Amino acid sequence: MAITTDCQIDATGCATVGHGLYWAGGCVSYSVAKDGSELRGISYDQVQALADDAVAQWMDAECSGGGQPGLSARSTGPAQCRDAGFNASGGNVNLIVLRDDDWFYSNGDEILAFTTVSYDTRDGHVVDADIEINSEFANITTGDDGVVDDLASILTHEFGHFFGLAHVSVDAATMSGDNDPGDTLKRSLDDDDIAGICAIYPPGSADERCDDTPYKGFDEGCLPDEEPPVMSGGYRGMNHAVICYSPHRRVGVGIQA
Ligand SMILES: [Zn+2]
Repeated sequence: MAITTDCQIDATGCATVGHGLYWAGGCVSYSVAKDGSELRGISYDQVQALADDAVAQWMDAECSGGGQPGLSARSTGPAQCRDAGFNASGGNVNLIVLRDDDWFYSNGDEILAFTTVSYDTRDGHVVDADIEINSEFANITTGDDGVVDDLASILTHEFGHFFGLAHVSVDAATMSGDNDPGDTLKRSLDDDDIAGICAIYPPGSADERCDDTPYKGFDEGCLPDEEPPVMSGGYRGMNHAVICYSPHRRVGVGIQA
């Protein structure tokens, strides 16, 4: 991946130009692929439970001014497909998938997971997000014993991208871009993470008419569009959600795939 030349960052690593990313109305659904990871001995039920826990970390954060983020994320139950990406012409699924033998990206042994966020370049509202976890090359583990690459930490971090946050240069933060083997710190949020999610989704801001149906409907098969995820309206696939958060700034830019 290459960072675009207009990706200007400040001293904390936060992007200083571009739109912030957000789900309109704070409302979104997510779907865990039905397979789990056979290679790592992780069942669908385990992934689902950890994904739900990760989402709850963000939804239930205690904002500094009181209240929780205006964010509502609902699981649809198991997804029947494994294809990530945005389909501009049909239904979509916001997918969470572990890839045992189909990790498509380079630097396979360095990247634990990848979140692709597709959004409207005019205002930054997200239309699709997919989390892919590198169970092929990373030693993904669950639980508290023999921790290597901790799935709970990875999911909490990637859901931060899913909801619109970028990396930040705060070592203690879940949205720090580095994760050491054996580390479980990212399972729970740091003050910086909480301030970020509360800035994107202020308490009380959720749309009461909340509709978490994916763009153009839920796609049971979640087949990918044959075209690249760019359309005339300006939708663009990015490999990371890119609102960067810092205490005084919430803006974002794309990191080009
Ligand atoms: Zn990340």
